Amino acid sequence: MRKKIVAGNWKMNNDIKKSLSLISDLLGKLPQTEAELMIAPTFVNLIPSVEAVKNSKIEVIAQNMHFAESGAYTGEISADMLTSIGVKTTILGHSERRAYFNETDESLSKKVDTALKHGIRVVFCIGEELADRKANKHFEVVGNQIKNGLFHLPAEAWQHLVLAYEPVWAIGTGETATPEQAQEIHHFIRKTISDKYGKDVADNVSILYGGSVKPDNAKEIFAKEDVDGGLIGGAALKADDFVSIIKSI
Ligand code: PEP
Repeated sequence: MRKKIVAGNWKMNNDIKKSLSLISDLLGKLPQTEAELMIAPTFVNLIPSVEAVKNSKIEVIAQNMHFAESGAYTGEISADMLTSIGVKTTILGHSERRAYFNETDESLSKKVDTALKHGIRVVFCIGEELADRKANKHFEVVGNQIKNGLFHLPAEAWQHLVLAYEPVWAIGTGETATPEQAQEIHHFIRKTISDKYGKDVADNVSILYGGSVKPDNAKEIFAKEDVDGGLIGGAALKADDFVSIIKSI
């Protein structure tokens, strides 16, 4: 079912002390909300973070996962490893993974398959680079990321997917898509899904916006019809900012 979601991607930030202190701050300040709340700490801090959010509204999710079941993949983390510690959702295809770790639509489609096979929900990231946007190719790029990464899935699988549209030019840059730009492409994303799977499937997918969402711009972006929440980077590292963004939904 389509839900409002606010997710914080902590990336490679926060050692154990800072992670637990941020969680404690968040728990102390959380407003009442219908939205689902997620945080994605680094792998080494997942276990204590899962423990720390127990019985709260916050879900601890992973930032990434490997497609193989197990084996000779030094430095990688498997689906089983995540589920065995109570992690039930992972981000996949973040633009930093695509850009710095050569993740491709093809490898991501395999990761999605493995995650879903293990009952792990996926927050699947898509988004164009600045050059694509300047060349007016953003619809084509985003459309292809969806088709190549996800269109092999059966319709039922979509209930376990959340999409996060994150224009690369807006991530960590302080530059945000305008609410109108966000709505335009979120609508396009929903239509792309609808054209392949039908309106019911498309209407039930949560599509998050990510890219320099801050307390002062969240409300306007979240107000748009096809924006179901946000994937938040920098502002998720400060409890007050993250809480303020949650209050905007
Ligand atoms: C992100 O990396 O997912 C992100 C949206 O980062 P920021 O909010 O810092 O732009």
